[in-house]
Amino acid sequence: MDNTLKDKFNKELQSEQERLTALLERTGKHLYKRDEPYSADFAEQAVETENNEVVEALDQENKVALREVKLALDRMEAGEYGNCTECGAAIASDRLFSIPHTRFCISCAQKQ
Ligand SMILES: [Zn+2]
Repeated sequence: MDNTLKDKFNKELQSEQERLTALLERTGKHLYKRDEPYSADFAEQAVETENNEVVEALDQENKVALREVKLALDRMEAGEYGNCTECGAAIASDRLFSIPHTRFCISCAQKQ
């Protein structure tokens, strides 16, 4: 992969990492560091719990995504970025354009 392209993906992964970290900070605050105690009113409490479930799902999703992005940056560092971790083939750049953190080539991804 040429360096210009690698640079582009590197920047994209960096900014994705920043975006996800900021999001996780926000959802984390919402979920784990609540200052105010739960509202005493039952209906309100139910709504809050429901919101928490949504935020929690989002939080989990973002954690998984952040892990993938970090692993991609590790591979970038190691000079292995753009190669499929399963079969070692080069991942098509079209695929990297749509999913910069992917670790599988298209045929391995389909087998997953
Ligand atoms: Zn592969």
